[in-house]
Amino acid sequence: MIPKKPTSFDPTARTTIKRSATRGIYDRVAIDAILDEALVCHIGFVDDGQPVVIPTIHVRIGDNVYIHGSHASRMIKRLLSGDPACLTVTLVDGLVLARSVFHHSMNYRSVVVFAKGFDVPDMNQKRDISHALTDHVVPGRWFEARQPSDKELAATAFVGLPLDECSAKARTGPPIDDQEDYQLDVWAGVIPMTLSAGKPIDDDKLQTVIVTPEYVSQYKRT
Ligand SMILES: Cc1cc2nc3c(=O)[nH]c(=O)nc-3n(C[C@H](O)[C@H](O)[C@H](O)COP(=O)(O)OP(=O)(O)OC[C@H]3O[C@@H](n4cnc5c(N)ncnc54)[C@H](O)[C@@H]3O)c2cc1C
Repeated sequence: MIPKKPTSFDPTARTTIKRSATRGIYDRVAIDAILDEALVCHIGFVDDGQPVVIPTIHVRIGDNVYIHGSHASRMIKRLLSGDPACLTVTLVDGLVLARSVFHHSMNYRSVVVFAKGFDVPDMNQKRDISHALTDHVVPGRWFEARQPSDKELAATAFVGLPLDECSAKARTGPPIDDQEDYQLDVWAGVIPMTLSAGKPIDDDKLQTVIVTPEYVSQYKRT
């Protein structure tokens, strides 16, 4: 689905990046790309006065990010109560080793979204989101696996979070040391980090005739 929102988000009082402001990004394409690459998001909400942050799977479709879960899930119930929530995703691109411990850092791309959740009761829409979630994690999987029955879809709640109030932040490049520390005999630089898939492990109960599909054997995150 083609996003209808503007190509760049206007920073709000809440999304204006104050710390290391030059690392802030409000560009729609960049924010979508980070959301789409991340396998996991974290949902922050307040439950009975207690801040809680829960990791979960997400997918972006157009102008919304969707998550799913049991109707009994506290996270789902809080999101559907109309309470404000915060969704974050983080991609770690490198470990930044400075000459001083103080200036160690990470290269990263992250997104913060402030939103209120909305329910998705329509079964056809649930099916579409289920498809998108599945293929967000493993592209191609939806058409091989048994797709959810109406009963399974009915048992699952789908919650949308609109991409209205968003920011991204990214650090790139080498360590930034204090000028006098550049004289030190200490290794400094960046250890690049990527998320990579290992060799797929056949399930013990696999039918012997089933060969590993290419989308599994060739799985890559980006
Ligand atoms: C992998 C990783 C490691 C980090 N390590 C550290 C660390 O060790 N110490 C540390 O202080 N900070 C670290 N950061 C940066 C951290 O995420 C915050 O940006 C920083 O701490 C400032 O927080 P703040 O609430 O004071 O920022 P503010 O600038 O006051 O935040 C204002 C608004 O800017 C937006 N914003 C802030 N941070 C981010 C972000 N990361 N991504 C998208 N939007 C954002 C939000 O909308 C937020 O409400 C790390 C970030 C990542 C992704």
